[in-house]
Amino acid sequence: MTDSNALLELRGVKVHFPIRGGLMNRTVASVKAVDGVDLKIMRGETLGLVGESGCGKSTLGRAILQLIKPTAGSVFFEGEDLMTMSDEEVRKRRANMQMIFQDPFSSLDPRFTVGRVIGEPLENYEYGSPKEVDERVRYLLRTVGMSPNVLNRYAHEFSGGQRQRIGVARALALNPKFIVADEPTSALDVSIQAQVLNLMGELQKEFNLTYLFVAHNLSAIKHVSTRVAVMYLGHIAELGKAEDIYGNPQHPYTIALLSASPFPDPQMEQTRKRIILTGDVPSPVNPPSGCPFHPRCWKAQAICREVYPTLEKKSSGAQEVACHFPGA
Ligand code: SF4
Repeated sequence: MTDSNALLELRGVKVHFPIRGGLMNRTVASVKAVDGVDLKIMRGETLGLVGESGCGKSTLGRAILQLIKPTAGSVFFEGEDLMTMSDEEVRKRRANMQMIFQDPFSSLDPRFTVGRVIGEPLENYEYGSPKEVDERVRYLLRTVGMSPNVLNRYAHEFSGGQRQRIGVARALALNPKFIVADEPTSALDVSIQAQVLNLMGELQKEFNLTYLFVAHNLSAIKHVSTRVAVMYLGHIAELGKAEDIYGNPQHPYTIALLSASPFPDPQMEQTRKRIILTGDVPSPVNPPSGCPFHPRCWKAQAICREVYPTLEKKSSGAQEVACHFPGA
């Protein structure tokens, strides 16, 4: 049984990439990019997924959409497990699950006109006659705040913000229920970032969208997230309502990430105490035993090196945390 309030439910999802070597080109090791993630994404929410580069967050986003086939686990979309479906069945469901990419400069084919970029998914899914496709593309352009007159122009003729609007229009073409937005504003000027975020917020209300919003720092997703999941080395370290994560962080990694995020309030910024994490991010080929954060954690004790902490609620906070000694 899955939770009927959840649009997506992940159980034990792993994505391991094999490393081949030797004369026989056999698998000699694997990169454990995602290593056992349980997660629900509730209907109509924005779940912010945050972590340093290489923590597995983008891989997890792609694994949910089955753009990368998970090595193990279940991915339930509206109660149906995508992992047990044929490629054709997954393709049909994917009309409801789309992606907005990080870099609007490389994600839009420079050989295609704007009309073709946005119309391509409609044609792939046999939306209707050429006239109906044309009308839908014009409607989508208006929806993202652009003039339908740009139909015959090429994506490279536009600014970064406009290109990302074109990317959003393409993602909306098939009227999806769920969108993975993979750092959708990080390649844009700061002045344009707020416009794209506002647009995404308006579209969410208008079309009842559910978002997974992937970002590498907590400040980028503060104002858009209903809930936040903090990811470290292929695992969820902390998961809860945005106000609990920002107001009362429990996992030492979240506390360190927050201490590194600049605050817009100058008074808070003055009192911010930055925690500098020592040591490198361990290799996902050979992750540490027990808690994966223990080689960098200032609170680590013997149990941390031996026992993996379960993601669960503790008395010190309302959110779930994977830590033996949570809290400040
Ligand atoms: Fe630190 Fe131990 Fe908590 Fe891991 S389990 S974050 S090592 S205190």
